[in-house]
Amino acid sequence: MADIGFIGLGNMGGPMAANLVQAGHRVRGFDLVPAAVEAAAARGIAAAASAAEAVQGAEAVITMLPAGEQVRAAYLGEARGEGGLIAAAGPDSLLIDSSTIDVASAREVHEAAAAAGHPMLDAPVSGGVAGAEAATLTFMCGGPDAAFARARPLLEVMGRNIVHAGGPGNGQAAKVCNNMILGVSMLACAEAFTLGEKLGLDPKKLFEISSVSSGSCWAMLHHNPVPGIVETSAANRDYRPGFAAAMMHKDLKLSQTAASQAGAATPLGAAATALYTVFVNAGNGALDYSAIVKLIRGE
Ligand code: NAD
Repeated sequence: MADIGFIGLGNMGGPMAANLVQAGHRVRGFDLVPAAVEAAAARGIAAAASAAEAVQGAEAVITMLPAGEQVRAAYLGEARGEGGLIAAAGPDSLLIDSSTIDVASAREVHEAAAAAGHPMLDAPVSGGVAGAEAATLTFMCGGPDAAFARARPLLEVMGRNIVHAGGPGNGQAAKVCNNMILGVSMLACAEAFTLGEKLGLDPKKLFEISSVSSGSCWAMLHHNPVPGIVETSAANRDYRPGFAAAMMHKDLKLSQTAASQAGAATPLGAAATALYTVFVNAGNGALDYSAIVKLIRGE
């Protein structure tokens, strides 16, 4: 059983850390929000007064923070001019960042970790809060083979599918590519089901046909934007998330930053980003991402 320092005990980090405790690991946690630390303490996570205290003597450090800015600040100590987690963590302790962040920040932190002798993985997740609670997350990992081998048993406690996507930053690369596919295909479904309805086609009939034809995709099968078609769909619960439109918007923006830095043409990703920007700016960020069908319908 390992001593683990866990930084960022929010919607995802809280249940992930609790699953590590359940598996018998000793977890010391820190979050800037005291209520998050208290909620974690109720689930067996020892409360630390600072990030540095949480990682002292830990064999592994896991972070689950909002975005690249917080991850850079936490690891490099940029914000406060301090050493950050890379300096505070003991020599050879394994660093795992599971936040969804931009590829460039991930690679910058990897470089600093490697220079200080720490094995590191970027390991963003898919599966949402429900997956974090149920320990069924998918982890997409970037980093050296040795870091992946050490991290795997810990990740298996929190997730079901653990995939090594390649070198530093490749976990984040896989995450933005995957979610760009999801955002674009959700819009394709929203457009096709709206068009079908306008042409007099029953959406249930369109689903019966398309779900077993060449237009089928994950968004259509699991998150269908039209109510009354797929039981598990947020559309049946007034579009309560699920996966919030604000989160999809964040991930699409990351895909566009990555595309611009890599010189890749992603015209459909750009269109999806613009449509989610309109939708979120209109105050819909807390709805499920499938509610984008309302924008397409002109509601
Ligand atoms: P959240 O806002 O609930 O949790 C983030 C936590 O980090 C907050 O409690 C915040 O106080 C804390 N924090 C911020 N800066 C900190 C610092 N310097 N030190 C300590 N704590 C700090 O967000 P979340 O939903 O848990 O998401 C975390 C990450 O997981 C994000 O990158 C998100 O994109 C990704 N993600 C979320 C979901 C989801 O469905 N919620 C799904 C997949 C991936």
